[in-house]
Amino acid sequence: MSESSLRLVWVYPDLLSTYGDQGNALVVERRARLRGLDVQRVDVRSDQPIPTSGDIYLIGGGEDRPQRLAAERLRRDGGLERAVSNGAIVFSVCAGYQILGHAFINDLGEREPGLGLLDVETVRGTGERCVGDVLADIDPQLGLPQLTGFENHQGVTQLGPTAKPFARVRLGRGNGTGDGTEGAYNETVFGTYMHGPVMARNPLIADLLLKLALDVNALPPVDDRWYEALRAERIAAATQPA
Ligand code: GLN
Repeated sequence: MSESSLRLVWVYPDLLSTYGDQGNALVVERRARLRGLDVQRVDVRSDQPIPTSGDIYLIGGGEDRPQRLAAERLRRDGGLERAVSNGAIVFSVCAGYQILGHAFINDLGEREPGLGLLDVETVRGTGERCVGDVLADIDPQLGLPQLTGFENHQGVTQLGPTAKPFARVRLGRGNGTGDGTEGAYNETVFGTYMHGPVMARNPLIADLLLKLALDVNALPPVDDRWYEALRAERIAAATQPA
């Protein structure tokens, strides 16, 4: 990557973009521009090849059938795996997160292989669907404030030894395993169940991705008052008794 440019790839907006997850691309793009970066955003539909030269890839959530189609096309394409081996950063939400693991249960009730970019595997939960607001503490190693978002999924995701939990829930279900974990990550690939869009509620996650992509420790500060107001409102709404 050249010093002042950033290539942002939004993967399969036609299949994976529930609950405004595309907002994640808007937030990452804007926060990069505010830091003077020349951002090239590429929205890749599912009938197009995944470019392998991106710096940051974002993937959203989706219903069960589009999720299977997306997994099939991504496996056939192979571009995302190549991008990751080139050092790209990937951030995925819900169905996107499940696809990045080893496997998930598809809409036909079959075990669908994922891309194996995260050491996780998803089964279909037998209990109630995980729906509602979530508050969680992000792994302190990542140096980020409390995670706020909402979840809506049937999948239950188990982490393998090389995936670290992205966060620990205070409120909500997260991975749905009952162990309090939410999401997963390794050096360059992140997955979460959080919608919101999660970057609008947690803009410092966008900054973390930018820092990893740029290989810098800090970014110039930006005016976060709007985000802070939204965070405060959502956290209050989640914690107030109904
Ligand atoms: N179809 C998946 C599930 O229910 C993911 C749902 C989503 O992306 N919101 O587990």
